[in-house]
Amino acid sequence: MAVRAPEGTRDLLPDEQRFWTTFKNTAATIFGRYGYQPIETPLFEQTELFVRGIGEATDVVSKEMFTAISGENLKTLVEGGTIKAKSRLSLRPEGTAGVVRAVVQHDLVPQGAAPAKLMYAGPMFRAERPQKGRQRQFNQVGIECLGAEEPTVDAEGIIMLMRFFEAMGIPVASTRLLVNSMGCSECRPAYRDAVKAYMDEHAAELCDECNRRAEVNPLRAFDCKNPACSEVMDGAPKISDYLCDNCRAHYETVKQLVADAGIAFIEEPRLVRGLDYYTRTVFEVQVVEGMGSQNAIGGGGRYDKLVEEVGGRPTPGFGFALGYERCLLALQAAGMELPGKPPCDVFVASVDDSVRDMSFRIVQAARDMGLTAEIDHQHRSLKSQFKLADKLNAVLVAVVGPDELEEGVVTVRNMQTHHERKVELKTLKSVMERFLGERQVG
Ligand code: AMP
Repeated sequence: MAVRAPEGTRDLLPDEQRFWTTFKNTAATIFGRYGYQPIETPLFEQTELFVRGIGEATDVVSKEMFTAISGENLKTLVEGGTIKAKSRLSLRPEGTAGVVRAVVQHDLVPQGAAPAKLMYAGPMFRAERPQKGRQRQFNQVGIECLGAEEPTVDAEGIIMLMRFFEAMGIPVASTRLLVNSMGCSECRPAYRDAVKAYMDEHAAELCDECNRRAEVNPLRAFDCKNPACSEVMDGAPKISDYLCDNCRAHYETVKQLVADAGIAFIEEPRLVRGLDYYTRTVFEVQVVEGMGSQNAIGGGGRYDKLVEEVGGRPTPGFGFALGYERCLLALQAAGMELPGKPPCDVFVASVDDSVRDMSFRIVQAARDMGLTAEIDHQHRSLKSQFKLADKLNAVLVAVVGPDELEEGVVTVRNMQTHHERKVELKTLKSVMERFLGERQVG
């Protein structure tokens, strides 16, 4: 059988790929208004970065990372040898750790500087069990703001994300914005202990995985999909009762600013999100209907300790990521059809093979002028060339024939009006220029 794409991966065929470009460009335009600049980091990093940054006890790091290994190092390992820490590499499961590493490495937030505002777009890799809306390679667009701890950063980030969804055509009414504060290193330990104590009391009702989580990372139990565990965790202590005064004030300001921007949200005290690095604000945007269990289209939060974890100066941070494929599913569930290939401006048809060289020169001249121009490469009959022009949605067809060439003319047909006229070869360029001008205005 022919080789297929690996499980959990998906080819972005031209319509989807074109839409991905539109999606990224829209993000760059909107996020650019808030001062975010593009950055691109490698698709793989030292494994240690993710272990330290995201946290060893998270599912993403403990179970879902893909290791990238050179053939030589694999051989060493198979033979029972060891490889250097810097050769232990993993495909990035998310974008924040790499961006934070780049910020530290290039000192993008010197002391006293304005925050660094960065955005990225590209593939992430997680060895999750594939299902609808959950892939092993998927595309994210994300932002990171490093160097400011003020709640205005969190609020503008959340507002910006919602504005982006709106601009892409995901109706706000079809989404639900959940927000929470996870506290800080001062108030979270007491909360964590309270959740652990509660889980210990309910150990018999919780699944084995949650009992294991109680030992290493009790808050992760809020994410358990097991209905019995969810029911138990519904009764667990709420972080809102444990926030210190500073965290409470920060949270109140974020909510106020988001509400002032006309954005509705739901406070969800059980929202903890899957990664360990969050402090204070966390949020998630879900699609209300039609997406099954994988309904989160974006989310993020504040991570004031992460930069230190990866070896930088204490630098507060805030970021979010959104999933392209899930947004596409949400848009398609809302009835959107992917825009098709843009029409071809000019199709240059040849009456017979004797004029093909001239046709080739004309089509090339049209492209050099900035028009989308096509030609038949397979010696089709004139009739089939017109069929092809139709299929390509050609606006004009320029017919090159031996008799016309003798006269120094080509026949240009407008495919919409079926109007035909002879155009002198000398003036063809200016006719096409005029057409190009009109097309750009249109
Ligand atoms: P996270 O980094 O887990 O907060 O994910 C941010 C966003 O990326 C989610 O809201 C999803 O839209 C998307 N996403 C995360 N994991 C996957 C996956 N396995 N497949 C497709 N999209 C994903």
